[in-house]
Amino acid sequence: MRCKLLVPDDTSVCPNCGSREFSDRWDGMVVILDATDSKVASLLGIKKPGMYALKVKQ
Ligand SMILES: [Zn+2]
Repeated sequence: MRCKLLVPDDTSVCPNCGSREFSDRWDGMVVILDATDSKVASLLGIKKPGMYALKVKQ
C-alpha cells in the first residue's frame, strides 16, 4: 500500500518498502522497467522496477 508495488496475495512484507500494510482495492496498473529513466516512475515517486498500482484505496 505504501509504495504501490503489486505483490502476490500471500506476501506479508513488501519487498520494496518493508511495509506490512496491504490493500486489495486498487485501480490501474503500470509496469516500470527502468525506474531511473522513466517519466512515469518519477511522476509516481517510484525508484525500483516492478508492477505498480496507479491508485490504492485503504
Ligand atoms: Zn511497499
